[in-house]
Amino acid sequence: MLEITDLEKVYSTGDEALKGVSMDVEGEEVVSIIGPSGAGKSTLIRCINRLTEPTAGSIVLDGEDVTTMSKSELRNARRDMGMIFQEFNLVERLTVMENVLSGRVGYISTMQALRRNFPEEDVQRAYEVLDRVGVGGMENKRADELSGGQRQRIGIARAVLQRPKILLVDEPTSALDPETSFAVMELLTEIAREEGIPVLINIHEVELALEYTDRIVGLADGEVVFKGTPDEFDQGA
Ligand code: ADP
Ligand code: ADP
Repeated sequence: MLEITDLEKVYSTGDEALKGVSMDVEGEEVVSIIGPSGAGKSTLIRCINRLTEPTAGSIVLDGEDVTTMSKSELRNARRDMGMIFQEFNLVERLTVMENVLSGRVGYISTMQALRRNFPEEDVQRAYEVLDRVGVGGMENKRADELSGGQRQRIGIARAVLQRPKILLVDEPTSALDPETSFAVMELLTEIAREEGIPVLINIHEVELALEYTDRIVGLADGEVVFKGTPDEFDQGA
C-alpha cells in the first residue's frame, strides 16, 4: 500500500530531519509514528504528500513513486491521500458542509466562480460522513462556532469524503483535551476498520499510540529506533 525506503530530508538550514527512514503501511491498519519533539515525525508525514520535498529515497503509494511525480501527477495522487491536521485547517467563515465538501482541492472556489450548487450525490455523501463521525445535524453551523473536538471530526469527515487510499494524520490531538483525544483516536481506528482505509498517524502521546494502533514506528533524531506492535513496545520499554 505505502512503502517508504531510505527517505532522507535535509532542510536548507542544514537540519538533517530524516536520515534514511524505511517503513511501510499495509491495508486497513493503523500505524503510528512516535518519538520526541524534533525526531522528524512531522517531516516524515509531510514528505508523503510532498508538502515538504524529500531530499532522497522513495515513497511508493499503490505502486507509484510519489517522489518522482510531476506536478499534475502529484495533484491526482494527493486526492488519494486524506490529510488530517493538528490545527484542523478549517475555513472559519464557511459552514461545516462547505468545509467538508472542500476536501476536493479548489472545489469551493470553482463552485462559487461558476455560481453552481454542489452536486446532490456529493451533498448526500457528506451528510452520511458527517453522521458517521458524530457531528450529524451541524452542517449549517459555521466552523468557528464549533468546539475543538467537533472541528477535528469535521477535518476527518473532509478527508474521508475524498475516498482516499490512505489517511495521513499529523498530531491530531495536540490541540485537544485528553478525553476528546481518546474519542478522536477511537474514531480514526473505526474508520480504518470499517471503511478499509489505512491510517498513518504522527502522535506524541505514547499512551494513545499504545492503546489505539496496530503497529508503532519509533523515530529519534531522524532514524527508526523501533518497529513493532504495542505489546512488543511494552516489553522493550
Ligand atoms: P523545504 O526545503 O521543505 O522547502 P525550507 O528549509 O525551505 O523547507 O524551510 C521552510 C520554512 O520553514 C522556511 O521559511 C524556514 O524559515 C522555516 N524553518 C526553518 N527552520 C525551522 C524549524 N526548525 N522548524 C520549523 N520551521 C523552520
Ligand atoms: P517532530 O515532528 O518529530 O517534532 P520535525 O519533523 O518537526 O520533528 O523536525 C525534525 C527536525 O527538522 C528538527 O530538527 C526541526 O528543527 C527541523 N525542521 C523541521 N521543519 C523544518 C523547516 N521547515 N526548516 C528547517 N528545519 C526544520
